[in-house]
Amino acid sequence: MKVTDFSSKLIHWYHHHHRDLPWRHTSDPYQIWLSEVILQQTRVAQGLPYYLRFVEKYPTVQAMAEADEQDILRTWQGLGYYSRARNMHQTARQIVQEFNGVFPNSYEQLLRLKGVGNYTAAAIASFAFGEAVPAVDGNVYRVLARLFGIKTDIASHAAKKEFFELAKTLIPADNAAFFNQAMIEFGAIQCQPVAPDCLLCPFQDSCYAFQNGQQSVLPVKAKKAKVRNRFLNYLVLEWNGKLAMNLRGGKDVWQGLYDFFLIETLQLPESPDEFMEQPTVHSWFLESEIQVPQKTYVHLLSHQKLHVQFWRLRFADSANMALPDNLSFFSFDQVEQLPKPILIDSFLKEHYFSNFISPN
Ligand code: SF4
Repeated sequence: MKVTDFSSKLIHWYHHHHRDLPWRHTSDPYQIWLSEVILQQTRVAQGLPYYLRFVEKYPTVQAMAEADEQDILRTWQGLGYYSRARNMHQTARQIVQEFNGVFPNSYEQLLRLKGVGNYTAAAIASFAFGEAVPAVDGNVYRVLARLFGIKTDIASHAAKKEFFELAKTLIPADNAAFFNQAMIEFGAIQCQPVAPDCLLCPFQDSCYAFQNGQQSVLPVKAKKAKVRNRFLNYLVLEWNGKLAMNLRGGKDVWQGLYDFFLIETLQLPESPDEFMEQPTVHSWFLESEIQVPQKTYVHLLSHQKLHVQFWRLRFADSANMALPDNLSFFSFDQVEQLPKPILIDSFLKEHYFSNFISPN
């Protein structure tokens, strides 16, 4: 098939099948960037309300740059990978400081932004400025691998260059934005990972995967890293109508978010004896009314499976509470406003916020 036939067929398909999404009605590079950051994180249906919320709260890159990080994390809450939200905030600041608040307008310049990789730079450059540079995301890898029978492992370094170069030969110089949108949308709707709609596909005649029955084999992707199990015991300290919340630092997950006092163990213990050697913890258990965990929460991260139990320790109002660093008491109202991992938020909703006046 000729290259021009390919792009015109694809764009024709796009005109008839694409979803009407708000970021497709703008050429504002800030809003396009925002949508791309969110969509790297989640599916369109889940990402849409986040996109609308971000655009409303921070309508410009300046507004985002000036926002408080905690506020950004709170708005991001539920999307996971909180480092992406922090990077996004840093990037907004970088644009204000290094580019006078004006979004860079070329692929090469966009690559100078923190957290902006080849795909995002190409997406912004083409959607906002019409630059003919291919935006190759997971959808595009899949479409190209199937159409052209490419067997290179798409997680490999070599694949990046190979697929980018191939896409470059296909992208029309005068219609780059539509072409990139169409490739991504075609992968998302028509050439789906598990059940591609081959019978109604305009490329059926020339598609390598269809002709050779290799849709389930292509694209080739190396196996994922093994998932690590972790066992977390949270101590939820209640005192004077307040909860002790821990601001997470360090290099572990959920940096900058709030959780509770955490003790990590090799397995989830049946009694607290196993983690009571610390004098502070020991005295907390002696001095409080203890509510043992009612259930184990299981929470999946990209490479970790968290098994979590919450021990609720209720102290008398008159207790003399001394807390370790990073741990502070907050009223329920304040706790509700803090940025938190979704797991912590779910626990709080289940046990506190749904029954605000008298926590169960
Ligand atoms: S024929 Fe099937 S596998 Fe090939 S591009 Fe179309 S939907 Fe994808």
